[in-house]
Amino acid sequence: MTAIVSNLQAIRRSVTQASHAAARDAAGITLLAVSKTFPADAVREAHTAGQRAFGENYVQEALQKIAALRDLPLEWHFIGPIQSNKTRIIAENFSWVHSVDRLKIAQRLSEQRPPLLPPLNICLQVNVSGEDSKSGVALEEAEALALQVAGLPHLRLRGLMAIPAPADDPAAQRLPFAQMRALLQQLNSRGLQLDTLSMGMSHDYAAAIAEGATIVRVGTAIFGARAKPPA
Ligand SMILES: *Cc1c(COP(=O)(O)O)cnc(C)c1O
Repeated sequence: MTAIVSNLQAIRRSVTQASHAAARDAAGITLLAVSKTFPADAVREAHTAGQRAFGENYVQEALQKIAALRDLPLEWHFIGPIQSNKTRIIAENFSWVHSVDRLKIAQRLSEQRPPLLPPLNICLQVNVSGEDSKSGVALEEAEALALQVAGLPHLRLRGLMAIPAPADDPAAQRLPFAQMRALLQQLNSRGLQLDTLSMGMSHDYAAAIAEGATIVRVGTAIFGARAKPPA
């Protein structure tokens, strides 16, 4: 068995454990394998272990993998920062975008989504820890943005995504995830019907699951340590 296959099996067991510890059904949690910087063959290997959903951060790198893996029934999620000149490629090639944090980008994705494809699934990225350097809409501005994005025709607003500031102990890790859960409830009480909390990475997915994550985005724990990302 390859490392990728055994890592995936171990993570699935651990996701199931974390969901049971939170009295949740593991079927309500999607494991998104973050394959950025790893070659198409690594994705192919993960697919042999039953993995379907893959996350990518860099448009050009993702396009090459998507093209090389057309023979497999994979679902591609864009999770990286979005430049406005890349929205068309993203709208044409992905099923999900987790990193929308401004209206202009959402409008372009909606306009550029090919009409024959189903609506593009969208999560708004929230800067939950309020870090200056991070992308994401501020917590206080998330509701206004969500209400606007929910009205765009070729998008389906599914929920929220966050990358909290790193924390070591589980209680500290849970705080920002709890804020995200509360924000999702707030938005649903305003009439939205959001079903997705994309939160938790290799080091904190258990804490995220305890606070209601429905998609965990795991890279390193599946594929191993990454070399520096392309400039
Ligand atoms: C790289 C990345 C991940 C995966 O992080 P790991 O720590 O390798 O699990 C998850 N989400 C986003 C947005 C990323 O950029």
